[in-house]
Amino acid sequence: MSRRVRAAIRVEGIVQGVGFRPFVYGLAIELGLDGLVGNDERGVFIEVEGGRAPVGEFLAALRGHPPPLAVIERISVERVRAGPGGTGFVIVRSAVGGDRRALVSPDVATCVDCLREMADPADRRYGYAFTNCVNCGPRFTIVRDVPYDRPNTTMAGFAMCADCAREYHDPADRRFHAQPVCCPACGPRLRLVDREGRTIAGDPVAEAVRWLRRDAVLAVKGLGGYHLAAVAAREPAVAALRSRKHREDKPFAVMAPDLAAARRLCAVDETAERLLTGPARPIVLLRRLPEPPELPGAAIAPSVAPGNPWLGLMLPYTPLHHLLLRELACPLVLTSGNVSDEPIAYVDEEAMERLAGIADVFLTHDRPIHVRADDSVVRTFRGRELPVRRSRGYAPQPMALAAGVPRPVLACGAELKNTFCLAKGRRAFVSHHIGDLENYETLRAYTQGIEHFRRLFDLVPEVVAHDLHPEYLSTKYALEREGVDLVGVQHHHAHVASCLADNGECGPVIGVAFDGLGYGLDGTLWGGEFLIADLARFERAGYLEPLPMPGGAAAIREPWRMAAAYLDLALGGCVPDDMDVVRRNADRWPAVVALARAGVGSPRTSSMGRLFDAVAAITCGRDVITYEGQAAVELERRADPAEPGAYECPLLAGAPATTALFTAAGPELVAAVVDDLGAGTPAEVVAARFHNAVARLVADGCARLRDAGAPSTVALSGGVFQNMLLLERATDLLEADGFRVLTHRRVPPNDGGVSLGQAAVAAALDRERG
Ligand SMILES: [Zn+2]
Ligand SMILES: [Zn+2]
Repeated sequence: MSRRVRAAIRVEGIVQGVGFRPFVYGLAIELGLDGLVGNDERGVFIEVEGGRAPVGEFLAALRGHPPPLAVIERISVERVRAGPGGTGFVIVRSAVGGDRRALVSPDVATCVDCLREMADPADRRYGYAFTNCVNCGPRFTIVRDVPYDRPNTTMAGFAMCADCAREYHDPADRRFHAQPVCCPACGPRLRLVDREGRTIAGDPVAEAVRWLRRDAVLAVKGLGGYHLAAVAAREPAVAALRSRKHREDKPFAVMAPDLAAARRLCAVDETAERLLTGPARPIVLLRRLPEPPELPGAAIAPSVAPGNPWLGLMLPYTPLHHLLLRELACPLVLTSGNVSDEPIAYVDEEAMERLAGIADVFLTHDRPIHVRADDSVVRTFRGRELPVRRSRGYAPQPMALAAGVPRPVLACGAELKNTFCLAKGRRAFVSHHIGDLENYETLRAYTQGIEHFRRLFDLVPEVVAHDLHPEYLSTKYALEREGVDLVGVQHHHAHVASCLADNGECGPVIGVAFDGLGYGLDGTLWGGEFLIADLARFERAGYLEPLPMPGGAAAIREPWRMAAAYLDLALGGCVPDDMDVVRRNADRWPAVVALARAGVGSPRTSSMGRLFDAVAAITCGRDVITYEGQAAVELERRADPAEPGAYECPLLAGAPATTALFTAAGPELVAAVVDDLGAGTPAEVVAARFHNAVARLVADGCARLRDAGAPSTVALSGGVFQNMLLLERATDLLEADGFRVLTHRRVPPNDGGVSLGQAAVAAALDRERG
C-alpha cells in the first residue's frame, strides 16, 4: 500500500450556496478519502487524506470540474501530517468569526431537477412555488448577513419539517445544506389577494390566471420585487397597465412560457438562447419576427412595444413564474412594480399601498425580500452579451481586477442608472441597479445598499471615489464621508476606465466616451470625448464641437431644442420656416434660438447624445421624450441597416492652448442631414447615413490620434454605445484600420458602469502613491 498523504485545502470565491460541500463530499467518498469539509467566512476549507494518487485525482477534479455555479478565485493546498486513516469523511459545521471573505452568490433560476419535481404529481413538491435546491433558488435577495446560512436569510422564520431537515442533513442529497430548502408543509405560501388585502379563495395560481384572462392587471411578487403582469396579447389589458402606470412610450418586457414560445416571437440565435436559458435569466433585447399578416397583434398587443422592431424577452426564472406561465400558456407582459420612475416595490405592505391604483389583484407570499433587485437587461454583440442593466442574477458577483486595490475603495457612481462599487484586494463588487438618485426612496436604497455590501464583504472603505458633478447626490454622499481619502474622477475618464476594468486591462488606450452629459474638467458639460487614458490619468485629445443647450435641462427633455441650436449653426442662422421641425415648434422656435445665441441658461456641451437628439427631432419628429435616451433609440431603430452611405463630419484643428488635437464639426453633419432630407431621401436612409457618419467620425478621430503617437487600442464606452448599429459599424471600421477594440461585456457602457471605472481609477492612483 502506498504512503498516505493529507492535504489541507482552502477554496476562495463563490463557493457557498452553490453545492460545493456536497460536491466535495461526493468526490471524497468516490475516491475513498478520509477528511472533512466546511464553510467559514473566507470560503470553503477541506482536508483530504489517502493514497497519493486519489488525493491527486481529488485536486484535479476540484480544479477541473467544480459545481456549475461555483466561481473559484483561488485554491491553496498545504501538506499536513497524515493520521492513521479510517476516520471517514465528514462535513463540519460552519465556523463563525474571523473575516467575511466568503462570497454571496447571485440569485439563480430554477434548475431542471427542481422543475421535474414540481411537474411530478407523486412528488411532495408537486406544484410548489418555492421549490429550490443547492443548484438554484434565491440567494442575494434573501441574504441578510454572512456567513450564508439559513438564520442569516429571510427563510429564518420557516422551521424545516422533518422531511426537509433530512434532505438538508443528508450529504448525498441534492438539498444538502441548501439554505432556502422548504416544502409545502413547512415553507412559504402563496396567496391571492384583492386591493383591500382580502384573500381570494381557491388555488392562487389558477385564480390569478382566471383574472389575467379577464384582462386584469396582476401584481406578482418575484425575487427582487413586485412585477406588474398582463396577458401580452390582450390590448385592453396592456393599455390599462400602461395608462395606470403612467408609462407613455417605454417598451414593456415580455416573459414567454418557454424557449419554443420565445422563438415564435423573436429571432433567437445561439447567443440569445444561452442568455435566455442561463442561470441569470436577464431580459434579452431581441429583434421581433414579422407577425402573421392574418393575425396582427395575435401574440403581442400593439401597446407592448409600440412601433418597436425589438422586444425585451425573458423566460421564467422562479418556480412561481413557471407555474403561472404553464397555466396561462401564452406570453405575459412583466414589468417592474412601480409608478413611472419610482423604484420597484418589494416590501409587501408598501407594495399593496403603492400598486393598489395599478393592479387589480396581488399574487403574493410570505417569504420576505431583503434586497430590491430589478431584472437585468442585455443585448447581444458578436456572440456575447452586452449589459444594459446589470442587476438580478448578476449582482453581487465580484469582478476580478487586473491590478490590486491597495486600500479598500467605495466608488459612489453617477446620478442616473446608479450603481455603487466596493473594491478590495483584486475584487470589485459592483452593486445591483439602484436607479436614478432623484427621490428619497432611491437615495435610501443607495445608502442602505452601501451599508449592506460593506457588511457582506467585510469592507471598510479608506478611499472614496466620486463624480466631479457637484449636484449629483452620489457626489454629495461622498463628500459627507469622514476620515477617508476622497478622489474625484472625471465622468468620461470613469467610462473609459470602466471599459478597461471590464476587459481586465490597464491601458493606455484611446478612449471614446460618448454619452448624454458628464461634468468636464473645465466646468462645461462633456459627452463626445476622445481621451488618451490609462487607469490613473487622461488627456482630452478630441471632442465634438461644443454648442449651447437651449434652456439647459429642458433641452434634455425636448430634443427639438437641440435641433434648433444645431440648425442655427448648421445653416448660418437661416433656418427655413417650412422645415417640419420648425413648423411643429413654431411658437417657441425664435425664443429658443435667441436663448441659444445669447447663451442665457444654455450651458455649452460637447455631448454626442444631444447630437443624436437633434438629428432624431429633425429626422423622426421626436420633439419631446418620456424616457432617457428615447430619441436616440428611435433613431437607431428607424435606420436601414442595409444602407452603406455616410455623411462627412470634418475634423477641425483643436482649440489653441488645449490638449485637443481636433474638434468634430457636428453642425456640418446636421447640415448634410438637412440637405439629404430636402432631396427627398427617406428617413430610414438618412438615419442610417447619420449612424455611419458617427462611426466614421470615431474611426477618423482615432486614426488622427494614432498618427500623433496615441496607442492603437481603442475603448468604446458611454451610453451612446448601447446603440448596436453604431457599435457594430464603429468596431468594424476601427478593426479594418488595424485597431484593437475593447467593448463592454460585464458592466453596461452607460452610467451603470461608471462606479467600476471610478473604483479602478482610485485604486490606480493609490497604487502610484503607495
Ligand atoms: Zn434546483
Ligand atoms: Zn418541509
